[in-house]
Amino acid sequence: MAWEIDAMSERLTTDPLPLLRDLIRIDTTNPPGNERACVEYLTARLAPREDLAVTVLGRVPDRPNLVVRFPGRGLAPPLLLHGHSDVVPVTGQQWQHPPFAAELIDGEVWGRGAVDMKGGLAMMLTALTRLHESGQRPAGDVVLAVVADEEHGSINGARWLTAEHPELFTGIRYGIGEEGGAGLDLAGLRIHPVVVAEKRACWFRATVRGPGGHASRLSPPGAPVGRLGTLLTRLTGTRLPRHLGPAAERMLTELADALPPPLATAVRTLRDDPADAPAGGLPQAAALQLDSVLRNTVNPTVIRAGDKINVVPAEASVELDGRILPGEHTREEFEAEIRSLIGSDVEMQLLVEGLAVRQHRIAEPMFGGFYEQIADLTRKADPGAVPLPMMTPAATDAGFFAQLGIRCYGWLPMKLPAGAEHRTLLHTADERMPVEALEFGTSLLTELLRDYR
Ligand SMILES: [Zn+2]
Repeated sequence: MAWEIDAMSERLTTDPLPLLRDLIRIDTTNPPGNERACVEYLTARLAPREDLAVTVLGRVPDRPNLVVRFPGRGLAPPLLLHGHSDVVPVTGQQWQHPPFAAELIDGEVWGRGAVDMKGGLAMMLTALTRLHESGQRPAGDVVLAVVADEEHGSINGARWLTAEHPELFTGIRYGIGEEGGAGLDLAGLRIHPVVVAEKRACWFRATVRGPGGHASRLSPPGAPVGRLGTLLTRLTGTRLPRHLGPAAERMLTELADALPPPLATAVRTLRDDPADAPAGGLPQAAALQLDSVLRNTVNPTVIRAGDKINVVPAEASVELDGRILPGEHTREEFEAEIRSLIGSDVEMQLLVEGLAVRQHRIAEPMFGGFYEQIADLTRKADPGAVPLPMMTPAATDAGFFAQLGIRCYGWLPMKLPAGAEHRTLLHTADERMPVEALEFGTSLLTELLRDYR
């Protein structure tokens, strides 16, 4: 169904709901992206404000990025809000309601991007509109970057923008972006994730070669498939060495403090255990998630060997999805950890390596005044819940902005009932945003922008 432009709202209002519904109806499925329609929609509605510096720029014409500078009161350094305008495809998914119609059903807006992350963009823009409409300005200049292509490598988005136009982000100390679906469901606790660290991808293809031959007789010793079997067993049955870093330590400590005694003890044991025993006393999903912030991980995913039933293949390979801890941890160290399990005679080819965020360029500590402000605001707005500093295994655009020396936090506050599945619906069918959660995030962001330091 095609949505006519006249079905959309004429201007930005203090209500994030119509904005979110419009954004969902502009289909920015990536690939191909087509973020232009979204950027045109926003620039048309920002144009009446003469106090804004609006910049539209892209690597290619149909994939523009929008950078808007909202003037502040000069009481704090400029603040970055970054959000992506593209969404992932809905191909092959069975939706209960059409994914680009933005239907409002029982207090929830349904559609692709409702949470990831057109909901976040609606919160950010509406927070800025609210300040403006009430005659206020943010504490410092706010730079809003609406970027393309986050869901497909950011080649046309944050990666390009930060490399080619770093001058747009001069002087910014802190940034707020998506949380990459960081969330934790434990003991009915309502957790507001604040992402303070991200793991990065490091993907390899491991290949073993050896004698092949006719499959009608005993296969020779050292045939690749058998060796690959051994390799798979070693990689799947083992946890890589433990490296407790500051983000994981704080995350586990604050989580333990918020949990009832038996679970708290389990989390503290996981944090402190010098013997590095697997997490006990926790539900399996939580145990696996928490254990993963203590170490690099590697998972065999795509396995290939042979394409004919009567031929013993002379080559077998497996693709390895690896995730490296943040901080000073390197690819070389990670590869050595894998090698110690699989030996040196396996060929390892690097397929993808995510950006190593150069921590030394970031002068401010990860936890400090700005983090505490976020946590305090959240606590006040939702006294029954816990703001939790998190490490997410999913890399977002934050890494590109961090390269410019900006300390980035993943924080899109949503008040969701404990155990709500909304955060797990990113990239799947039936993605939706409760109107109440959207309002919660908008009002918290408004408060942060007004008085951040
Ligand atoms: Zn996202």
